[in-house]
Amino acid sequence: MPELPEVETVRRGLEKKLNKFIIKKVEVCRDSTVAFPTNKEEFIKGLRNSLIDKWDRRGKYLIAQLKEVQNENIQFNEKITLKHNGFLVVHLRMTGYFKFINNSDQPCKHTRIRFFDKNNNELRYIDVRSFGQMWWIKQGLLPNKVIKGLGSLGPEPFSKDFDTKYLKRVISKRTKSIKAILLDQTIVAGIGNIYADESLYAAGILPFREARTINKNELIKLKESIVTILKKSIGSGGTTFSDFRDLEGENGNFGLQTKVYRRTGKECRKCGNLIKRQKITGRSTHWCPKCQK
Ligand SMILES: [Zn+2]
Repeated sequence: MPELPEVETVRRGLEKKLNKFIIKKVEVCRDSTVAFPTNKEEFIKGLRNSLIDKWDRRGKYLIAQLKEVQNENIQFNEKITLKHNGFLVVHLRMTGYFKFINNSDQPCKHTRIRFFDKNNNELRYIDVRSFGQMWWIKQGLLPNKVIKGLGSLGPEPFSKDFDTKYLKRVISKRTKSIKAILLDQTIVAGIGNIYADESLYAAGILPFREARTINKNELIKLKESIVTILKKSIGSGGTTFSDFRDLEGENGNFGLQTKVYRRTGKECRKCGNLIKRQKITGRSTHWCPKCQK
């Protein structure tokens, strides 16, 4: 599943590629991809004549701010004020990705939703396993209210709310493993399996430890590791794992080299011991038995 760095990489790509993209036509190839409104015709009609003005990210959600465009020959250098037309929200889940196509061609069978501009350029949403979702939140409704998962997200790892004091407070009584805590989107937004394992390794903390047993110095280290690793990964365009694709359909081949994730049985890059793997709450967890306590 794409995690924060991959979703952020997609966001940057969308912002760059979809500069002044005005949706003229929407084609829904698979109804279940549209999570809201429940009537797909309303989704299609609502998005028509929308200028995609800006892309934001919150956790693993992509959020496009929309403006209403009545005149398609609009000149953007003029001083104009456009009415808001709500938000297009996307969650890629396991295998969702976007592809931008100049001069639209025949879509592949995993194509779920297609957005066209008047010149037949296409923003195509492809999703093999089809867990990804889209919402059109019309003007007046709040994305945080309509989308439960979005409304319940914990702080962004880069925000000032995500500090050691906050972490100490939320884990002080938790008997869950620290790994499970990091995966909990209501505690911190955007971290998935890869970055949880990598951050715990960097901080020297065993993933199985009960969260409440992590001391202050370890929390400081953990918080720093999370931020450093996420930033580094964004800089390199995400990791190569988890079916992630950028807008050119590339798998991020220059991505971050992992230290433990998917390195089971290989030598630890620090101490030479073999990396282990075991499941924690259903998720494969990788760690070094010597470097992590
Ligand atoms: Zn080691």
